[in-house]
Amino acid sequence: MCCGFGVYVDLAFASRIVDEAEIIKPHLPPDRRNVADWFDGEVKDDADFPSGAKVGTQIIPDPLNPAGTRCVFLRPDQKCALQVASVAAKRHHWDLKPYYCCLYPVTLLDNGLELDEENEVYGLGGSCQRPGAPVPMYKLLKDELVLALGQEDYDQLCTKVENLSRGRQ
Ligand code: SF4
Repeated sequence: MCCGFGVYVDLAFASRIVDEAEIIKPHLPPDRRNVADWFDGEVKDDADFPSGAKVGTQIIPDPLNPAGTRCVFLRPDQKCALQVASVAAKRHHWDLKPYYCCLYPVTLLDNGLELDEENEVYGLGGSCQRPGAPVPMYKLLKDELVLALGQEDYDQLCTKVENLSRGRQ
């Protein structure tokens, strides 16, 4: 289900992905290397995106995905080609990955962070996010929250949560 519907990408970031096409193409199947097929071309205004506008990644039919489709960047081995290309280029693994994909399952909506618990992945039992031993969400999702808040604000969040926990004991 993950990546079945693609993702909205900030317009400027989509342009950066196109600029970096030559390092991304080798990590996609040959029939998906045409840059013109990577985005759906429907630019929409959205104040949650730094450019003030977003565009969707293209989706392609996939009868094996419960969504019936998959993001054009999702490879047959179920890895994101943008992340694979970032790693292969010896950059941070999220360098070319869209912000909302890095943030998931946290999502940014109306300038606030939320857990995307209405996502169909949860309706189907959580898939790879099915919990093992209980871990507080702010710890489990540390990398995602540091991306959203910055290290300093994340550290403040931890301090507040830990102070609250101590107050309850
Ligand atoms: S860009 Fe990558 S992580 Fe995001 S939906 Fe597409 S395949 Fe998935």
